Amino acid sequence: MSKIKITIFIIFTLTFVISFVVLIAMLGINDNGACEKRQANIINYIRPVKADCHSIENNERRFGALRDNGVRLHAGIDFVPRENGHGTPVYAVTSGTVTNYYYFFAGTDALVVLNDDGTVIRYGEISSDLRVGDRVAQGQQIAAIATMYSGAAMLHLEWYCGCEIGGLTQVDNMDNFTHVETRNHQRRADLLDPTAFFDLPLYASTDTAATKKLLIFKVGLITTLIIFIALLAVLSKYLIYPKFIKRYVDKRTAQAMSKKQKQQIERELEKLQREIKGNKSLIFKRNDCD
Ligand SMILES: [Zn+2]
Repeated sequence: MSKIKITIFIIFTLTFVISFVVLIAMLGINDNGACEKRQANIINYIRPVKADCHSIENNERRFGALRDNGVRLHAGIDFVPRENGHGTPVYAVTSGTVTNYYYFFAGTDALVVLNDDGTVIRYGEISSDLRVGDRVAQGQQIAAIATMYSGAAMLHLEWYCGCEIGGLTQVDNMDNFTHVETRNHQRRADLLDPTAFFDLPLYASTDTAATKKLLIFKVGLITTLIIFIALLAVLSKYLIYPKFIKRYVDKRTAQAMSKKQKQQIERELEKLQREIKGNKSLIFKRNDCD
């Protein structure tokens, strides 16, 4: 009986542990490294340019396109508005703090923001009124697209994991990159590919409501599962378990009874045989007398 109890206990413990592990996995609590986790935050990011932009697919606006006659590779992506590029508002993709603002390229400036999730974005080829130490909120206009000497106007956006320190432009760094293919980007080692920024929905939706809904759904699902498991355990203890035990006891009792009956029958049989033997000897004796 105790063996059955132990078995049932083990089954339920295992079920609980497995369910718990599955739930933890569903929550995504497993740590795959700080940088990967930071990249995952992109689902909460918004596009930095609301205006309709040219495609970055297979052209020189994309990440990794050739620059300087193939000497180096494009380290960011370019948001090039289809119309009236100059002065186009640039919005913070997520909240953070301005860590740098300086002259960048061909008559334009760059704004560096350390995002609250630890990543770093360089908004380049712009002009801005913000300065070091200023806080930026997600969706806040932080800059305007400026016009380069060539007459072109775009936002050049670079993204970094934030796992390294030092200047973002590193002309000597040709092959030391942690998160992108090792090629000559001439940037800091923790450079990320920001192409996904282009796939984000337009600025209008920050999707915080959707994120909240997803969280509520997850919590609800987990609570339901826990209640279900608890109910299952209770039901097993008070309904299934006694029934199972009863069936087992009945079976064993039946076996025991039949064994007892068999023994009795055997005993009676032996007794009968003995009697028959006795009678036989009497018969023979009587015959001998004749
Ligand atoms: Zn660019």
